[in-house]
Amino acid sequence: MLDDLIEDNIDRLGIMGGTFDPIHNGHLVTAEAAAYQYELDKVVFVPSANPPHKTEQKITDAEDRYIMTILATMNNSKFGVSRLEIDRGGLSYTIDTVQTFKEMLDNVDLYFITGADAILEIFTWKKAEQLLQECKFIAATRPGYSLSKLEEGIYEEYKEKIFQLKIPGLAISSTDIRNRVKIGRPIKYQLPNTVEAYIKKRKLYKEE
Ligand code: ATP
Ligand code: MG
Repeated sequence: MLDDLIEDNIDRLGIMGGTFDPIHNGHLVTAEAAAYQYELDKVVFVPSANPPHKTEQKITDAEDRYIMTILATMNNSKFGVSRLEIDRGGLSYTIDTVQTFKEMLDNVDLYFITGADAILEIFTWKKAEQLLQECKFIAATRPGYSLSKLEEGIYEEYKEKIFQLKIPGLAISSTDIRNRVKIGRPIKYQLPNTVEAYIKKRKLYKEE
């Protein structure tokens, strides 16, 4: 994936980090809106290996999450998937990922895309202040979370670095999808058909 990006000689790259357990339409709508609004040449989805904030929770095998991310992004020519964090292993820190992308791509303008919940936790991330120097952030609205905090306190200092993106609210979450599968409720139209089929085939989320 990094090799592709170098050949394409891109100027503006979006990075969408996540656990993607599973990837769903909330992620896809957010990435598409960010690409359009900020004229990104590409958005690369980076499934995490072992997320630092979720160590006590059981996470689906990285290879399954990677395959679902590929299936979901396959028919969008602007979207790609990177194995960077999965192959690096251990705990996945955004600062390491952003630095690797910057080293590989000369003069690239990086935009890290998040939902409202994730941006409001940014100051708990490793080397947050440095991260905010290394790239810009696009924070999308997400039902249940308010972006109004971005107008106050420490966030005020970073208003040139954190951009707010209003998207049609999709109250979809991976947690809810996992729970739905477990109790047999429908998940159709919340995520691509191909991902739904993969979940069925691999019998994911059926038990604890
Ligand atoms: P989980 O419930 O397991 O935490 P999730 O649905 O929050 O899953 P993540 O993989 O944790 O998905 O999220 C990756 C990124 O996508 C985060 O920045 C998150 O804020 C954003 N995101 C997830 N769902 C939405 C949504 N419905 N609308 C906007 N952003 C979203
Ligand atoms: Mg989440």
